[in-house]
Amino acid sequence: MRLIFLGPPGAGKGTQSELISKKFNIPQIATGDILRQAVKNQTELGVLAKKYMDEGKLVPDDVIINLIKGRLLGDDCQMGFILDGFPRTVAQAEALTITLKEMGLSLDAVVNFSLKDELLIKRLCGRRVCKSCGYNFHVYYQPPKEESKCDKCGGEIYQRDDDKEEVINRRLKVYKEQTYPLIDYYRQIGSLKDVNVNHLLKDDETDTDVEVVLAKVIDVLEG
Ligand code: ADP
Ligand code: ZN
Repeated sequence: MRLIFLGPPGAGKGTQSELISKKFNIPQIATGDILRQAVKNQTELGVLAKKYMDEGKLVPDDVIINLIKGRLLGDDCQMGFILDGFPRTVAQAEALTITLKEMGLSLDAVVNFSLKDELLIKRLCGRRVCKSCGYNFHVYYQPPKEESKCDKCGGEIYQRDDDKEEVINRRLKVYKEQTYPLIDYYRQIGSLKDVNVNHLLKDDETDTDVEVVLAKVIDVLEG
């Protein structure tokens, strides 16, 4: 299965793609994670990407496109993959279309997650991540049992630099201007499947249940 998970920051595409990756045994290719790893390792890519990421801007298309082209050649992509956070611009989507065509492959679905801004901001502002295992916590919805310590592995919990409020607003603006047009791009191709998370909320106080969203994703993929 070859999938794209599309949606604004905070919509839950990372969480869901990880679960779907396990369920269908296909790799999750998260450009944000690859870039954060590169920043951590201070590679050439990481040094370049950091200045864009810290400001909530997109890393240049050619850099990301080359990264993905290389990654798709990996042996583990034979059975399929989930692209999480790529493409993010029309230029990236067009390059992907060409690359897949050259490889003789086609997409099975583009899952489009949507969620109201108010909740995206609330999720991102409160998000905390384990430095060791990457597990996501939330100061309000899902605090760790012990402060600053991961329940899963005991690792240190931190706030991503780009989850600070000023940067969040920039990321949402960048999403609207540069990534939102991809919804039309893929709707025209005919591979778009909508997951409107707003419809899965219980009430105004609680966030969605991860399992409820997962069931919906599986439903649109199998339906
Ligand atoms: P989120 O979806 O929560 O904003 P990601 O972890 O996917 O976060 O991405 C973090 C940052 O990495 C982005 O703000 C951007 O700077 C960079 N990035 C990730 N994917 C791409 C991409 N496809 N094109 C350009 N920049 C990207
Ligand atoms: Zn952990």
